[in-house]
Amino acid sequence: MSVQQSFLRDAMRKLNLTREAFAGRIGVTRRALDSWLLPIESQEFRSMPEIVERFTSEILQSSALEVNTQSVHHVISPAPISFEGRPQLISVEQFSRESAEALFRLADIMQPIARRQKISRVLEGAVLGNLFFEASTRTRVSFGAAFCRLGGAICDTTGFTFSSMAKGESIYDTSRVISGYVDAMVVRHPEQGSVAEFARATNIPVVNGGDGAGEHPSQALLDLYTIQREFSRLNRVVDGMHIVFVGDLKYGRTVHSLVKLLALYRGIKFTLIAPPSLDLPSHILEQISKNGNVVEHTSSLTSGLIGADVVYATRVQKERFSDESFEGYTPEFQINKALVDASCRPDTLVMHPLPRDSRAGANDLSTDLNHDSRLAIFRQTDNGIPIRMAIFASLLGVDNQVAHSMRDAAWLPPRYIGPDDAIFHGID
Ligand code: ASP
Repeated sequence: MSVQQSFLRDAMRKLNLTREAFAGRIGVTRRALDSWLLPIESQEFRSMPEIVERFTSEILQSSALEVNTQSVHHVISPAPISFEGRPQLISVEQFSRESAEALFRLADIMQPIARRQKISRVLEGAVLGNLFFEASTRTRVSFGAAFCRLGGAICDTTGFTFSSMAKGESIYDTSRVISGYVDAMVVRHPEQGSVAEFARATNIPVVNGGDGAGEHPSQALLDLYTIQREFSRLNRVVDGMHIVFVGDLKYGRTVHSLVKLLALYRGIKFTLIAPPSLDLPSHILEQISKNGNVVEHTSSLTSGLIGADVVYATRVQKERFSDESFEGYTPEFQINKALVDASCRPDTLVMHPLPRDSRAGANDLSTDLNHDSRLAIFRQTDNGIPIRMAIFASLLGVDNQVAHSMRDAAWLPPRYIGPDDAIFHGID
């Protein structure tokens, strides 16, 4: 049944229509469409009539956008993710708009597994090497959990202290050695370009889990996937959106990856708000100024936030500063409830790649928005699982087996994962 939702979401993405417009195009009410898109466990969930599926498939076939015949029962694989000819994910620059959206379709198919309704063992017997030479909670655990939820197992190493790199071992040797032990690697390393070096030293799949101030492709993919899902509910499309980036745009690798991915769309307005010493690097600025996208800089949070569809806050990457003298990330850069209420619409999304620095005086995203449904940060982290499952399924070539491999889960997860999640009920 999950295939119904992924079919519909994919059709909306391909036709580039909001939910309202899509409902009109296929001649159904918005209410009916909403009920077909709900999670199966929701009481309001309904099955889509077969005739709607056939009609939608016809629209897709006749639209110039659609080359492959789609159906609820036929899952199309995303284009292979490839880096220098190998199944590896190092940069978002490996994606086109179409290939990113094909990956999102696969992530939609993974949702019932991520939500613990279904299980799959398509990666049974496979072993993942999680190599994290820098601090991580989300990326390391969610890549691990995603691999396990597809039936695989994990081996990992964290930090330099307990690895042979502390004895002077090269990236080439480390990568080649680990390749003999595992079937895929996720690597995080403090130096920009280092994960590409790991990738070149092996033929097994390698995923960049963050290379210094370089890129964090899986985070950007889950961010864009979250934006699309939220926009579908809010009746908006990515083309023409206004996104405001706040904070450390110089060293924030999630920002670097996300702006490049968004630049694949048309007519995006990027507003950049950063202390002067933490501006977005100029080579990235050049890359995103295309497709009719507009980039504006401002130092005022109050005026910069006006009209925003998305506010993307970030943490100051203190670990990347060679000197500790950094000043300038003052309270004027803090996103909090008073500011969001004053400058944003009731449907503006507030995002952050996390972790947020919640210590006093940090001026990072405030916790006073925790009960505000505009705060999408935990929907972002939840979406990290289906996206990372999709990445593995694609890199290891089992993408076509997932839909047919699902069985019901035997255990019952809590109705809401977090104690405050009830306020988000109906958000999907
Ligand atoms: N978790 C993200 C990263 O590793 C963001 C951050 O650390 O601020 O880049």
